[in-house]
Amino acid sequence: MYKLKDRLAKLNPPVPAPNHCRIRLDANESYKNLPDYMIEDIQRMVGEIEFNRYPDPFSSELCKGFAEYYGVDPECVVAGNGSDELISIINANFLDPGEKMLVITPDFAMYQFYGELNEKDIIAVPKNDDFTVDMSRVIDAARENGVDMICFSNPCNPTSLGIEKSEVLRLVESVDALVIVDEAYMDFWSEDQSMMDQVQTHNNLIVLRTCSKALGLAAVRIGFAVADRDLTRVLKSVKPAFNMNTVAQTIGTALFHYPNHLRINTEEIIQERDELKRMLMELNEKAGLFEEVLDSKNNFVVARTLKADVICEKLRERSISVSNHHTFIRITVGRDWENRELVEALAEIAGEIKA
Ligand SMILES: *Cc1c(COP(=O)(O)O)cnc(C)c1O
Repeated sequence: MYKLKDRLAKLNPPVPAPNHCRIRLDANESYKNLPDYMIEDIQRMVGEIEFNRYPDPFSSELCKGFAEYYGVDPECVVAGNGSDELISIINANFLDPGEKMLVITPDFAMYQFYGELNEKDIIAVPKNDDFTVDMSRVIDAARENGVDMICFSNPCNPTSLGIEKSEVLRLVESVDALVIVDEAYMDFWSEDQSMMDQVQTHNNLIVLRTCSKALGLAAVRIGFAVADRDLTRVLKSVKPAFNMNTVAQTIGTALFHYPNHLRINTEEIIQERDELKRMLMELNEKAGLFEEVLDSKNNFVVARTLKADVICEKLRERSISVSNHHTFIRITVGRDWENRELVEALAEIAGEIKA
């Protein structure tokens, strides 16, 4: 008699919540589609694919484009079907069941999800009340518990705060564990604090990046792991052979043909984010809806409020979606008219809640 393992029997697939809101500021996507001239270029390149042939297992052209854009060695880059796939591959292969993985909560839920799925022991170190990270406490917890892997996002989703590179470096150099630094949002931190230039000299470091946020390619599913040659060799060995289909490789390769567009676009999003933050703080001075609007190194702004549930519900009634974290709301930056409508809606809601 076949019996599902307990850890599998309790699982349910995530319920896809179709989002029909007029203004969608909940998923940290880029608010702009690719420009027409890039879409035309992509169509031409996709038209030249030999669809009967298997893909390049190592996504060489794509990794070369990524490496050039970010100034890293292409030999240190592995492409994944979204960084999500890379998180899953690393979790499943770099730790044995029962080994310990440290997360710094609250953080991106996928680390813990894949950790538990792969029967890893999760050590959760909470952030400070203001969402900053006490790195000394993380290092102590890692050492005391003998953790084998540490995984966190920097800048952080969902808190919007960043950890300075010097602090991340201190962590990497203070532990024996493998450290996964998920830099999905690093493009939005104006003073670059990326650890990608540290991988050659630190054999316990993997940096994750993605095309889903600043580069505006969430639909296509492209992520990257950057690590030293040993870790890269292992990642290439354990990943599914043809994890990146040729269509995705082609689109990603085309994207990196336009480095100037990518840089200018990122800069625009940063400016919109700063403007959104400014408007939210201005609103808050008048209406007092939030306890605090946090600093942001990401493409979203976090506002702390114990009224998060009611605010999100009232935004939904106006066909605006944001991400509800119950003690705070996470607002992805949108186009300027979307941000203005959001702030106007929040001003109305502030009046309704007070009344
Ligand atoms: C959005 C996001 C990613 C990107 O995931 P993809 O699978 O590459 O789309 C990775 N990490 C964090 C923390 C994110 O918020």
